[in-house]
Amino acid sequence: MKISAFYKLNAFLFLVLFLTACKGPQKASDFTFPKPVDTNNREIDYQEKKTYSFPTEGIYASNEYDGARLNNFVVLGKNKAEATISPENTPINHSPYYSFKLWADEAKEVTIDLKYIEHGHRYRPKISSDRKNWTYIDTTMVSTSEDRMTCSIKLNISKEPVYLSAQEIIASGDVKDWCDLQAQKASVHYSSVGKSPMDKDLPCLDIYEGDRMNKDVVIILSRQHPPEVTGYLAMQTFVEEILRDNHLSNTFRKNYRVLVFPLVNPDGVDLGHWRHNTGGIDLNRDWAYYRQKEIRAIADYCVKTSSDYKNDVILGLDFHSTFKDVYYTLAADMDHDINGFREIWLEGIKNQMDGYEPRDAPSGLGGPVSKGWFYQQFKAEGITYEIGDETPREFIDKKGRLSAQEMMKLLIFKSN
Ligand SMILES: [Zn+2]
Repeated sequence: MKISAFYKLNAFLFLVLFLTACKGPQKASDFTFPKPVDTNNREIDYQEKKTYSFPTEGIYASNEYDGARLNNFVVLGKNKAEATISPENTPINHSPYYSFKLWADEAKEVTIDLKYIEHGHRYRPKISSDRKNWTYIDTTMVSTSEDRMTCSIKLNISKEPVYLSAQEIIASGDVKDWCDLQAQKASVHYSSVGKSPMDKDLPCLDIYEGDRMNKDVVIILSRQHPPEVTGYLAMQTFVEEILRDNHLSNTFRKNYRVLVFPLVNPDGVDLGHWRHNTGGIDLNRDWAYYRQKEIRAIADYCVKTSSDYKNDVILGLDFHSTFKDVYYTLAADMDHDINGFREIWLEGIKNQMDGYEPRDAPSGLGGPVSKGWFYQQFKAEGITYEIGDETPREFIDKKGRLSAQEMMKLLIFKSN
């Protein structure tokens, strides 16, 4: 190779690398977040996976399944046991998630004391024998100490194991089953955009009809925070509504592309974490640094694919759970691609649901969360769609569907 050709090749490679680099997400230094967060890895404690056997009393408990959280279990008598529940690391926010399986040699009523190491009791206990149908334990069977560090639950157990859980168990295998089911529809393109530190898939449903070129994009995220199952349930029905075979949904999919990331934190979900991933970090504080593999992969993918297909990302919805239903939105003076959408969208949801008053909680850029990233990266509207821990499941379902319909109507009118 001639020297001039060598330089030309190098200049070409440099240009390719440069252009590729330009497609990456913006760096933290390009953003101004008033509240920076250190998202470098921190140590976590892993719970010991085991079956706790007490043959003398005939009581057994196990955390040997994905989504379980039980840090210790001791029997205190024939009909009484204590379950220790602790987080993956501290400091951590108040999300004391628990989930374990219980059974006995013979049918009996037992009292299980949930003993929390951090924070106090939050989630109403639920039971299931098949992990699909869940019921609340009657409030008369549940009592909490004054400092909320202990919650005593009376329940009947027998040879048939029951799951006692803070929320419905929806682990990575369940999410995969749901994705497989959606992927049977022609407009769903299902892939994994990367791997978590524990080598689990980061699933993505890429939804569009026809060509994805030049379509505007809606990004949907869920399960950054493992116990936030009610947000996940809302995300499911929201996405299912977009995939329905009717005039509204079909027209929407012809005009828009939707990128759904239903499980941003698969490791945390399967390990029964309260909040963090295996890096010990709140993933929803890493949307400017991309130090955590999960956020790096999803941010890279969104930026690259929307650039490849000349898409404008106009809206990002991140589904979470908190104590009550609320929408965390951008401050009114933050100019984005679909100004005015949110107000009409929330009014539309309100008008469809008798007696429901959506709570809109706008704020400027605070910490490096996804809502701010949608705005900073794409100049898109960013909304954190929060569902209450104990919001009735039928209400979540109905609101998820109606809010998808209202979004589709508004965006179809915008595109015409
Ligand atoms: Zn959350």
